[in-house]
Amino acid sequence: MPNQPAVANRGKVFLATKIYEYLLKAALALVPSLGIGYLQIYQSPLLCTVGHTLHDAAIVASLLVSGFVAYVTWRCYRYSGEPFLRWLALGFIGVTVVYAPHGLFTGISDLHLELFLLYGPASRLVMMLLLFIGLLHYGRSEDTQEDKDNPARWWLWLMLFIIIDLAVALIAETGAVRLLDWRFWMESGALFIALAGVVIVLARHRSSPLMMTYALSLAFFAQASVAFLLSSPWNHQWWYAHVIFATGFFILSYGVVRAFHTTGAFSTVYGLEELMERLRVEKSHTEAALRQLQAANAELAWMASTDSLTGASNRRHFLECAAVESGRARRNGLPISLLALDIDHFKAVNDEYGHQAGDTVLKSLVEGIMETLRPHDIVGRIGGEEFMVLLPDTSHAAAAVLAERIRSKVEGLDIPIAGETLRVTVSIGIAEFGLDGDTRDVVFKVADDRLYRAKHAGRNRVVA
Ligand code: GH3
Ligand code: MG
Ligand code: MG
Repeated sequence: MPNQPAVANRGKVFLATKIYEYLLKAALALVPSLGIGYLQIYQSPLLCTVGHTLHDAAIVASLLVSGFVAYVTWRCYRYSGEPFLRWLALGFIGVTVVYAPHGLFTGISDLHLELFLLYGPASRLVMMLLLFIGLLHYGRSEDTQEDKDNPARWWLWLMLFIIIDLAVALIAETGAVRLLDWRFWMESGALFIALAGVVIVLARHRSSPLMMTYALSLAFFAQASVAFLLSSPWNHQWWYAHVIFATGFFILSYGVVRAFHTTGAFSTVYGLEELMERLRVEKSHTEAALRQLQAANAELAWMASTDSLTGASNRRHFLECAAVESGRARRNGLPISLLALDIDHFKAVNDEYGHQAGDTVLKSLVEGIMETLRPHDIVGRIGGEEFMVLLPDTSHAAAAVLAERIRSKVEGLDIPIAGETLRVTVSIGIAEFGLDGDTRDVVFKVADDRLYRAKHAGRNRVVA
């Protein structure tokens, strides 16, 4: 095998490229940390950019985007019923609704800092929780149509998100805000859940490439939370944390859009390797089905052209063959002859031994005739016990020799019927295309006439 070393090399390169691929993915996932480290080490945390208008614009844009993505995710869910997508849609709706007051209160952020700030970590915590629950539902069987059509669940969740908004306001504006470092604990919760999500995706070897975008976005969300934890309001780490979070969101929304344009489900959008494997399996199924179909077609064609009792060609197929073969013989200037053949006193066989015995005689007779013929000769059952034989490449004289051979073969056949051996004879008439007539009908008639002359002459004979 000349290409075997190449295959072995590909094996080593394959492993190396796989490792490289994982390293690339890990590096990509950790890019935000470079910025976090840079700001943390080289920039003063006191450096602030208080930009209400910029902040408001960013929040309006992000709410529009997250609202849109939530809608697309919901549409995907309605299409596929994938429980994972239900939770993803809820996560997007949750982050949109819980995050909205953060923008609303920008103007009063100087006087109500906690009210302004807490909606950020609260919205991230809500989203991370719902995404995490979705992850636990990954691969579960799809929701029923009834479930998908039920709007109550969505309204209940919407109310819950609004209640969370009110609860955050209550905490921020009352003494409850001093009970706990709310910002720290909510942000840490979001960070921890995002990391747990990444670990689960990696540990379970989720094959869908969309789950890779999902894990990547979780890694970004986790790093956004780290940046938020390290930041103070309006400083550069804080702004940068927004950027990391937005990037994670864009990555996840890319997954949703891919799902929308393909199968509508994260678990059924396959990686290239898996897709090739599936194609290969499908192709072999298709080929097997095709072979079966061809065999079935061949059997059907055989059944449609063959007399089931004797295995001779049926009348319709024999007439077709006669037309084709006589045309070919005329074009090639070759002779072609026809035998008309009828069993002698066959009615007596039926009367004496029964119809079934008659059938046995018909079968044995055709077997005997076929043994006498050449492979390209064609036997047809034209009527009950009337047969014709088409002899391509055969002159009238040669046909007479063959007919005589058939007659004597049949005469010598021992047909076992009910413990006895039965013998029958046949009468045969011969005609040659061209010599005895030009059309099929005329030649058939000549052969038939000669058959009846054989009958009148005493049966068990050939008339040429
Ligand atoms: P002849 O020598 O003049 O041909 O006498 P015959 O008795 O053979 O007369 P004919 O050809 O008219 O007889 C046809 C008989 O063939 C009638 C029928 O009972 C029998 N027959 C036709 N088709 C079948 C069949 O499929 N099975 C059986 N068992 N008998 C058949
Ligand atoms: Mg007969
Ligand atoms: Mg007959």
